[in-house]
Amino acid sequence: MNKTSLIDELKKECEVCQDCELGKTRTNIVFSSGDENTAKAILIGEAPGANEDLTGTPFVGKAGKFLDKLLEEVGISREKDLYIINTVKCRPPKNRVPAKAEKDACRNFLIRQIEIINPKLLIFCGNTALKSFVSNKGSFSSVRGNLLEVILNEKAYKGIAIYHPSYLMQYATKEQIEMTKDDLSQIKSIIEE
Ligand code: SF4
Repeated sequence: MNKTSLIDELKKECEVCQDCELGKTRTNIVFSSGDENTAKAILIGEAPGANEDLTGTPFVGKAGKFLDKLLEEVGISREKDLYIINTVKCRPPKNRVPAKAEKDACRNFLIRQIEIINPKLLIFCGNTALKSFVSNKGSFSSVRGNLLEVILNEKAYKGIAIYHPSYLMQYATKEQIEMTKDDLSQIKSIIEE
C-alpha cells in the first residue's frame, strides 16, 4: 500500500475512535495537515483548539497564522515540507492541557502516522509535545533548539523542540522570537540535507 492509502485507512479509524473521553465532546477529529508524500518533517503541537475542532485542521487559528508567518520568513513550506499533528486528535474542553491518559490513548495513532511518513525530523512544538516524547532532559528552555534522538518502536528519529506559537504570541521576548527563527533555520537545513 502507498503512503496515501495507509494514511486514509488510519484516518478512518480515528474518525470513529472513542478510546478516551475527548471523543465524546469533539466536533471533528483533527487528524493532520500537509502532504504525506512530500513532508520531510512532522511538527507535533499540543491539542486542537476551537477553530481546529470546527474545521478539522490543525493550527488554523491565531497561533497557526503566527506559525505560518515564521515559516514563511525562513522559507519552510507548511504545505510541502511539514506534516502537522497534535498529541491528541480531539479538542480538550475549554482548551485545557490534554491529560496523560488521553495522550496515551491517542499515542498509537501518532506513532503509526510517524512510521508511515518516516520523516527526517520530529519537531516538538511546545512543552506538552516535547514531554510526550522526551523525558528527563531538563527544562524546556534548556532543551529547545538542541538536536535530540527519539526512539519509537526501536527506530531512531532526530528531534528538536521549538517554542509553541501561542506562547510566542502572548509572552515571548524579542530574543525568544529570534531564537525560534534560528531554530527554524536549523530545521530548514536538516530537512534540505
Ligand atoms: S483524542 Fe485520540 S484516543 Fe481520544 S477519542 Fe480522539 S482520536 Fe480517540
